[in-house]
Amino acid sequence: MLCERCSRDVHKHVVCNYCNKKICNDCMKSSKRKSKTVRVIICKDCWSKLASRKTYKSTAVPKVQMEEDRRYEGRRY
Ligand SMILES: [Zn+2]
Ligand SMILES: [Zn+2]
Repeated sequence: MLCERCSRDVHKHVVCNYCNKKICNDCMKSSKRKSKTVRVIICKDCWSKLASRKTYKSTAVPKVQMEEDRRYEGRRY
C-alpha cells in the first residue's frame, strides 16, 4: 500500500492519531505508549503544527496512566 504522506510503497503502515493518514515509518515523527494497548502516533506534518504537537505532548499526562493502573488493579483484587 502507499503511504498517504510521501506516496512511497510500504508493507507496513501506521496511522497518525492527528490526521488519520496511513503513513510509513519515515513519515512518523514520534510515537509513544499511552497504556499497554494504546499507542499514540504523530506524523511529521502534524508535528510541525504547534497545536497537534502540544496535544501529543500532553497525552503523556500521568493522570491517564494512573487511571489505567487503578482499573487494572481493580480487576486483579
Ligand atoms: Zn511516508
Ligand atoms: Zn498526522
